[in-house]
Amino acid sequence: MSTTNPAPANLTLANPINTESTGWKIFSAFIDDTPLSLPEEVLWSYLSDELKLDTQAIPSECREHLPLILVAYMNIWSGWHFKSDFLEGKIPKDHYFQRFQKYMRYKLNIAIRGQFAVALKAVQEQQKMVAPIQIENKVDSEFSPFTIHIQCPANMLNTIVFSNVGDDIVMKQHLGGDWEELTITQLLNWPHVEVTFRNKDVCFVRRQRFEYLRYLNFLPHESKKHEESVIENVEILSNYGNQRQCFSYKFLQAYFNTYLEFLEKLVAPIKFNEIQTILTQFLEDVKYIDVNQRMVTNTTVLFRLSPMRFIRNKKLVKNSDNKLDSARVGYCEIISPQTELLLLYCKAEQTDTPYLSFEYIEELKKSNKTEAVIMPSIVYRCTFCNIRYNSPDSKQLMMQHLKAAHKMEQQVRCTFCKKHLNVLSLVANRWSHRCLQSQNSSTSRSVNSNSLVSSATSTSNDQNII
Ligand SMILES: [Zn+2]
Ligand SMILES: [Zn+2]
Repeated sequence: MSTTNPAPANLTLANPINTESTGWKIFSAFIDDTPLSLPEEVLWSYLSDELKLDTQAIPSECREHLPLILVAYMNIWSGWHFKSDFLEGKIPKDHYFQRFQKYMRYKLNIAIRGQFAVALKAVQEQQKMVAPIQIENKVDSEFSPFTIHIQCPANMLNTIVFSNVGDDIVMKQHLGGDWEELTITQLLNWPHVEVTFRNKDVCFVRRQRFEYLRYLNFLPHESKKHEESVIENVEILSNYGNQRQCFSYKFLQAYFNTYLEFLEKLVAPIKFNEIQTILTQFLEDVKYIDVNQRMVTNTTVLFRLSPMRFIRNKKLVKNSDNKLDSARVGYCEIISPQTELLLLYCKAEQTDTPYLSFEYIEELKKSNKTEAVIMPSIVYRCTFCNIRYNSPDSKQLMMQHLKAAHKMEQQVRCTFCKKHLNVLSLVANRWSHRCLQSQNSSTSRSVNSNSLVSSATSTSNDQNII
């Protein structure tokens, strides 16, 4: 029977699903679990034409991140939990689709209206959360056949434990310890901290690249294993084009001493202390690597700060813990402190005198340049979060980042002497401690020194000093 009355203003009837629309294509791809790739322009028109959003309101610096935000929100829509109900016909197609579109419109609207940076950060955090654990097929069958690779926000890193709940293994998070202020030495040897020092003569990068092996196991790990080699990897950088040059520890030390003597009169004591500590750590590294007491430019050297490995066995403690529970799952982290050092360049030319004299420093001494000009650039980076600080107060910003975004490191145990050790004292001493191992002269330093010095040319400066 036909009717002259207009159809009621029913949203579904008024907006039948346009199966050619981008929204429907995306929605269908999620329903069918099929991969879908769309050009960025299509995503933009999806926002403006289908979701009716004001895309002009997106700050220009944020535009490139838009696809990331879109895709992340599509992925995390809680409506996907009802997908099986939908597939069984319990939820009408148009209703389910409209809910998806409504969610996207709501989330993107919030993101666009001035909180784009907040949304981006939340989405990036979410992304890390999507697959918090990956099992890697890296076999170290000493305890567990698989290592687990944890992707999570920094503040979860030291707070994760695993527990049995019935037949399941579940991941839990505890509060973690309070942050304690770090000294500069502690900061420089803290996990994930990278520092780049640069003045006109010298530029080097020093970054902590600890190796973490994480296992689920049933017994406390009692490995006595320690590492034989100091140098783990040497990589020659080809992209800088400069010839590799070899500098002796004594030369570098003499240069830094002269430089510091000059700086001390000009910069505030706090800043001076920071610079001095960075240079001291660098020199300690060169001495410790001990490849003929030399360091080569254009070469990345990854070395073990400590021959010892450290371990954390974490077991969720419950009041009901008893002997019958001894087969409960534990979580074990094996930590090998490793540092990567890269002397990018060293142009410090000695003048031709019997006494040590460096041209640039002499030039600085004579000039009346201001503190701002002679100040080296010191850049910090958290390699875990990939956040970089390059302002004059970079050290404070780095400290603040660790305090705000990371959790305090928990105690570790030396795998050799079994002592429980506080990470704060380890980092103050470049991860060394009074260990049985260190009294044992068998600590081997089987360094493949040839790879480090071969093909590097020794400078005349170098020879002058030795
Ligand atoms: Zn971080
Ligand atoms: Zn020990």
